[in-house]
Amino acid sequence: MPNYKKVATKIAKSRAIYLFELAHSVFPECKKFSQRYVELAMKYAQRVKFKIPSRWKQRICHKCKRFLYPGINCRIRLQSRKGKGSHISVTCLECNFTTRFFIKAKSHLKESWMNNK
Ligand SMILES: [Zn+2]
Repeated sequence: MPNYKKVATKIAKSRAIYLFELAHSVFPECKKFSQRYVELAMKYAQRVKFKIPSRWKQRICHKCKRFLYPGINCRIRLQSRKGKGSHISVTCLECNFTTRFFIKAKSHLKESWMNNK
């Protein structure tokens, strides 16, 4: 007997990823359609309970849930700070909300570099 929950999750995940790709390609022509595709993809993720891939999760504003397209409705800046940590800041130009994605330093590379010196 097939595991229906696994099959449903697999189908929903593939459809959601397809919808995100479609939203990305349609956005410059029609913002409304891309917004609808993102809403549908998020509904799939909520109903079947799977994690949206980080690549696409970073493209949704955390406050207003709009699709972010760099250069049109969002601003991306790189911040390099030694104390607090380097991060990528994404600012939504629709609601002016800034999301920070911290860049983790690879400790094993750092250690190997320290040993060579
Ligand atoms: Zn926003």
